[in-house]
Amino acid sequence: MKEASLQKIYSALGSRGLRIAALKTAELFGIHNLLVRMDTNNLCNLRCRMCPEAIVRRSKGFKPWIMKLDDFKRVAAGIFPYAHVLYLSCASEAFMTPGFARYVKVAASYKVPFISFATNGMLIDEETVATCIEHRISQVAVSANGARTETFEAISTGASFARLLENLTLIRNSKKAVESKLPEVRLNYTITKPNWREVLDFVDLAHEYGAGSVQFRPLTPFDNTRWSLKNQLDPEEERQVVGLLEEARRRSETYGIKFLGHGEFTGKGLRDKGSMIANCVYPWYYRYIDSRGMMKICPSRKPVGNLLEKSYVEIMRSEEVRSLKRDVLHRPETCRLICTPHVSSLAL
Ligand code: SF4
Repeated sequence: MKEASLQKIYSALGSRGLRIAALKTAELFGIHNLLVRMDTNNLCNLRCRMCPEAIVRRSKGFKPWIMKLDDFKRVAAGIFPYAHVLYLSCASEAFMTPGFARYVKVAASYKVPFISFATNGMLIDEETVATCIEHRISQVAVSANGARTETFEAISTGASFARLLENLTLIRNSKKAVESKLPEVRLNYTITKPNWREVLDFVDLAHEYGAGSVQFRPLTPFDNTRWSLKNQLDPEEERQVVGLLEEARRRSETYGIKFLGHGEFTGKGLRDKGSMIANCVYPWYYRYIDSRGMMKICPSRKPVGNLLEKSYVEIMRSEEVRSLKRDVLHRPETCRLICTPHVSSLAL
């Protein structure tokens, strides 16, 4: 079953009660049912303008951290057997972990149905590409926010458009050499004021470099860097983007590329989606692990334990987890206060 199938089943179950029942039943039958996101470092080689993490990394007291391979193996043994979808990166750049290919290899040994990681595409290396092909990693998601050199490099400070294209070529040619469809390359694009006019060019670029899917997401109020606040689309631009994305969808279909739009591209629309909160079941299937082993079961709340100190099962049976789940079920006002529109709108 693919990532999308899980989402389809999830969306078909209208109520929170049904979703929780389905997740518990899957657990009972030993079916992998978790969506796990994990960072193996807290670093990035770029400073993208809309990235809130780039600000954190520049702040006083920030300590760089890379998870040792042995620690990664311990965390993996505890939680990967329960994962249905595994992303080997979330808030950091995967390739900042030296020898990242070895981490990929460990992850692949758990036979998680869908494994992916996101990258800004600058540090992709031959060894990791070969490992991904050999171990049939499902996807490599490359974030690129411009279809032209000037736009791309102006948004992602420190990035090189030429390097991006070189590395996309490396993946395409390496797959072609052994006639492998995997890993699928997904190109991710966050729509902002400087780049919205390049949406169609981006679909052409995806086609030229052999991407299997393109994902367009809006710049949300969650991305609250000063730059982001200034570069959200105005209502007229939002109107035009909706039309462009329709055209982008058609063009993607012609190329045989999966088109993943968000459906909602306005800041107001995203805020209105606060209603998603009533049906959110993140704590029942979502796990985020940072490079120090700390695990969250809701992106907007504090971690519930450290997987390098306690077993996964122990943490999940703790009073902390039970009370967090109770709080989500019975005190929606807390969720409304702390949940970012970004998270609530994307809560499947
Ligand atoms: S804070 Fe948001 S993501 Fe967390 S449980 Fe509540 S609605 Fe879900």
